[in-house]
This record gives sequence, structure tokens and C-alpha cells, in this order.
Amino acid sequence: NGGVAMYRQERVLGKGAFGVVSLVRSVLTGEAVAMKTIDRSKLHSENAKKTVEHEIRILKRLKHGNIVRLLEVIETSRTIHLVLEYIDGGSVQQLLKSQGKIDEPKAQRILWQLLDAVDYCHQNYVCHRDLKLENFMLDRSHRRLTLIDFGLSVIWRAGQQLFKSYGTPCYMAPEILRGQHYSGPNVDIWSLGVSLACMLMGHLPFNGHVDGELKRRIMRGTFVLPDHISDEGRDLLRQMLTTKPELRIGIHGIRQHAWMRLPASDPS
Ligand code: ADP
Ligand code: MG
Ligand code: MG
Repeated sequence: NGGVAMYRQERVLGKGAFGVVSLVRSVLTGEAVAMKTIDRSKLHSENAKKTVEHEIRILKRLKHGNIVRLLEVIETSRTIHLVLEYIDGGSVQQLLKSQGKIDEPKAQRILWQLLDAVDYCHQNYVCHRDLKLENFMLDRSHRRLTLIDFGLSVIWRAGQQLFKSYGTPCYMAPEILRGQHYSGPNVDIWSLGVSLACMLMGHLPFNGHVDGELKRRIMRGTFVLPDHISDEGRDLLRQMLTTKPELRIGIHGIRQHAWMRLPASDPS
């Protein structure tokens, strides 16, 4: 057991709350993998420790073509390393930054794969709770989407209501902001709606000061869509970003929606 000595660091891929994610290469096989290193000294609270254990437990349980694979966990006295399948094309957030906007056919291909990943999570009683463009990774050809970062996800029992506030404010569903009990699947749909709006518009649909305008705008659920978005796209966004969770469209409804049936461009 060579542990972390079996990998050679190449470069930093991203920085997170508890440490960094690096591109590393296996000394033995030359295989490239992503290593999420968590600094134990940054895990001050009991809660933070649980969060990391939770992320590991959930990743071990999920096996799906659009969800990142956890290959190995290496623990030392000072660090915890999650060895993950390396996704080599960057995040959808990075793509958006470089292109300004994502066209509707491409956004549709991304959403199809996200729906597959999230549907699989929900069927396995996992609610992701941190769906956002930084956590959607693409391969180099931009054909395959991989969902990452299960640090805020939760396993729920059937019918169970959740209460705690989690996630990134701009992507948070109104029922979470209102401090109400909420159901996992519904809040994931809201965040997918924010993600889709962001891809098509090139910026977040709800923005502003976290405790002021932002909160009010999300709870009101009003947003302005630019003219270039198709009628089908506008309708789907309104159904995903419906403030009343019980009236919000579900995964099945999204798959049946006219926008998902628009002809997608050739991915090649
Ligand atoms: P955090 O929970 O701190 O947000 P993430 O798991 O989202 O940590 O990782 C942070 C960033 O590192 C991601 O946004 C992404 O850019 C990069 N990253 C994470 N996992 C991988 C991976 N498997 N392959 C390539 N890049 C990754
Ligand atoms: Mg992340
Ligand atoms: Mg995280």
C-alpha cells in the first residue's frame, strides 16, 4: 500500500472549501486521475467531518455513467484524499465563461444527461443539493457530462421532509429560503432550472445581495429572459422555476417537454 506516494502531482484543477483538487498521475500505470485533498486541520467542526464522510459514503453508492466515480480513498493523519475519475474538459461554468452563452441544442444535450444523473440519484434516495454549473464537468469533446461534488448531498427516507438550509444562495429554492420543510427532489429541480437559465442567458437569473434583493427575487420567482430564447425554452424555464414546490415540474415532465424534443445539433 503505497498510498499517496503512488501518485505524482501535475497541476491544480480547482479549489474547494476544505482543500484542493489536483490532476495527478499514477506512478505505476501513468493513468491520470483527479485527487480531492481534504486538509483535516480545516475540518474544525464535527459537522465538517461528517460532511466529508458523507460525500465518501454517497459516492461509493452511486454507479452511473454521468456521475463521477470514486476510485480510492487514502487517509493519512493530516489529510483525506479522494481519488476520482478525471474529467478532462473543464466545467460547464468554464465553458460558459469562454463562450458567453451556451446555445439551446448544446444546453439540451447537457440537460438530458443531468436528468439521467439526477433521476438515478433520486431513485437511490440521494438528493444532490448543490447542482450548479461549477459541479457539471465535461469531457474534452463536450459530449459527455459528469456530475461531481456530493459534499452537500443527503440520503433521505421515503416521504421524509428536509429542513436544513444548504447550497449556494443563487441556486437555492424559495422553500429553503423561506425556512420551510422541503422535499429533496423538488429543490434539485429548482437548481437545475437556475442552471439551465444560466446556460441560455449567460448569467444567473437571480442575483443581488444575499440577505436582501437576492432572497426577495428568488421568493418572488420573477426573472427576465432575453428575446433570443425560444418559446419552448421560456416555458420550460418557467415550469422549473415555479416557486410553489408542489406545482413545479418533475423529471418525467421535463423529459416530455417540447423543448427537450427540439432537434439537437449533431454533437460531432
Ligand atoms: P468543492 O466541494 O469544494 O466545491 P469539488 O468537488 O466541486 O469541490 O471540486 C472543486 C473543483 O475541482 C471543481 O469545480 C472542478 O473544477 C475540479 N474538479 C473536481 N473534481 C474533478 C474531477 N473528477 N475531474 C476534473 N476536475 C475536477
Ligand atoms: Mg463544487
Ligand atoms: Mg462540495
